[in-house]
Amino acid sequence: MTLAATKDRTGEQCGVVGVFNAPEAAKLAYLALYALQHRGQESAGIAASDGRRVRLHKAPGLVADVFGEPDLEALRGHMAIGHVRYSTTGSTHPHNAQPLLARYHGGSLAIAHNGNLTNADELRREMEKRGAIFQTSTDSEILLHLVAHTSSPDFDEALLLSLMRLKGAYSIVLLTPDRLLAFRDPHGFRPLEIGELGDGGYILASETCAMDILGAHRVREVEPGEIVTFSSEGMSSQTPFARSRPAFCVFENIYFSRPDSVSASGKSICEIRADLGRELAREHPADADLVLGVPDSAMPAAIGYSRESGLPFDLGLIRNHYVGRTFIEPRQHIRDFGAKVKYNAVRGMLEGKRVVVVDDSIVRGTTIGKIVKMVRGAGATEVHVRSSAPPLAHPCYYGVDTPSYGELVAANLEVEEIRQQIGADTLGYLSIEGLAKVMPNSASYCFACFNGDYLAGRPESFTKAIMED
Ligand code: 5GP
Ligand code: SF4
Ligand code: MG
Repeated sequence: MTLAATKDRTGEQCGVVGVFNAPEAAKLAYLALYALQHRGQESAGIAASDGRRVRLHKAPGLVADVFGEPDLEALRGHMAIGHVRYSTTGSTHPHNAQPLLARYHGGSLAIAHNGNLTNADELRREMEKRGAIFQTSTDSEILLHLVAHTSSPDFDEALLLSLMRLKGAYSIVLLTPDRLLAFRDPHGFRPLEIGELGDGGYILASETCAMDILGAHRVREVEPGEIVTFSSEGMSSQTPFARSRPAFCVFENIYFSRPDSVSASGKSICEIRADLGRELAREHPADADLVLGVPDSAMPAAIGYSRESGLPFDLGLIRNHYVGRTFIEPRQHIRDFGAKVKYNAVRGMLEGKRVVVVDDSIVRGTTIGKIVKMVRGAGATEVHVRSSAPPLAHPCYYGVDTPSYGELVAANLEVEEIRQQIGADTLGYLSIEGLAKVMPNSASYCFACFNGDYLAGRPESFTKAIMED
């Protein structure tokens, strides 16, 4: 008997929420985190303040498992921040769960961070030399040490001086005993939205689906480089950074966000994905009988492909939604066991058919290879693979932890070689131009994992790895 990992990717992506000026703020934060569970399943946490004291509860696991009624009752107060952390490495690190809470000379401070800093190693070394003792291995803790080490007694100034040192991607919610702050890096790689709860209450969340669950309505996004402060004086804003080119993560629209969320452009993610599928059908038509999507994330793109091509959309692939982190595999080897636990093909739909299989992205190429085999095994006579993302040829350093160059199939093989490797009859990727055509205001997005244009640079460790290669 072996224990197999079901997760196909390693990574560290997160969801954050903030609630201001609402009774039982922690309970609202809990519900909002529930809606953001897709952004992180490794750990969950909430810090709440009643105006005097910040209290924290966090643990490894899903939101529903981490919080019971007594935990939420203990998180008293009208302000709260929350976090779900994504990591698919199989092992969990309880000390890396967020929010992080620190007590320093200026008082208490809790933060929840989505994104990756690209100068984390340098800053960490510098802080350690100055005597900082890090409790976690996350880059998020660096901000706490920076604030604590500034000599300024004024918190706002200390925060600003600290933020000026950070490079890379951060969307952060920060809680002190009497204030809640929300801010994004000057490029705005990761999302952060502001909503109104009514009666003077506010909600902050990585995605608008977290507002829908509370009956809140979206007001606007926290702008790239903006610091929004919520206090007894209400909401105020400052934009202290020099203007940078906005670089919102285009991959949020392709894969990561929930389809019912509204993108920063005001269009729903679902509509954007369907448009990607339409564009894909125009660029790569197929002579086939039906269109399937790899569930769940590729469904909107597959529907778009079907509408544009006129080929019927059908449910020839079914996904088991109850697959956990690991499962027990029988001693006797079962081929492609991991994929079979998660997906199954419907023979009655596929037998004798020429099939288009749409996926949202091909990263290592393992998932789609197994799906092609499965679809053929269920009787399809031809399998035409279409990806609604362009070839993912570069790693992400801004908070979506795609694997390194060595593991990205499109960084190593030409499209024809990938087609052969995955065993498809034809393979077509949406072009970068096609993606840009679909995205509203496309010049305001990051496309680095497709075109290698890293607007906030790359970490020092990347340069080192290349030199050692
Ligand atoms: P591959 O097997 O090619 O490495 O993974 C591709 C599959 O992973 C696609 O079905 C896509 O929906 C999904 N995917 C894309 N990005 C991510 C991610 O960041 N995390 C996880 N868990 N899956 C992803
Ligand atoms: Fe998003 Fe790709 Fe840019 Fe990372 S590199 S922020 S995944 S678009
Ligand atoms: Mg998928």
